[in-house]
Amino acid sequence: MKEIKIILKDIPSGGLLIEDVFPKNDVGITGDDIIRMGADVKISAKAALMDKILLVEVHLDGLCSSECSRCLEDAHKPFHKDAHLDFAVESVDDVVDIAEDIRQEIVWDLPLRLLCREDCKGLCPACGKNLNEGPCEHQK
Ligand SMILES: [Zn+2]
Ligand SMILES: [Zn+2]
Repeated sequence: MKEIKIILKDIPSGGLLIEDVFPKNDVGITGDDIIRMGADVKISAKAALMDKILLVEVHLDGLCSSECSRCLEDAHKPFHKDAHLDFAVESVDDVVDIAEDIRQEIVWDLPLRLLCREDCKGLCPACGKNLNEGPCEHQK
């Protein structure tokens, strides 16, 4: 499982910039998620320590992939999210692993379904033909 550890002592007064990647295979909730990450998620983050709270501003860039929910062809959608995380810390000697929180931010914002394109025509319910490729005899 991916770890993204922040060593509090290493955070400079202007904040700590973090560039990392969340592996797509570590994102899933269960083994059979319908929507998955089609690429590793790029993480750009800035961490700052405010008193006893570690504040992390996160920007995530990824790609969701699935079957199109109408025609079952491959469908992809860019994934972008900004998140603000905070962690209570005991002392500046702490090391905080923010990976699980980032994973949850990704999972919460995965779309429930994807379309290969907005106007996907789907499959003919009678013959199963992909109507994006043209009409079939049932569509007249
Ligand atoms: Zn489709
Ligand atoms: Zn048909």
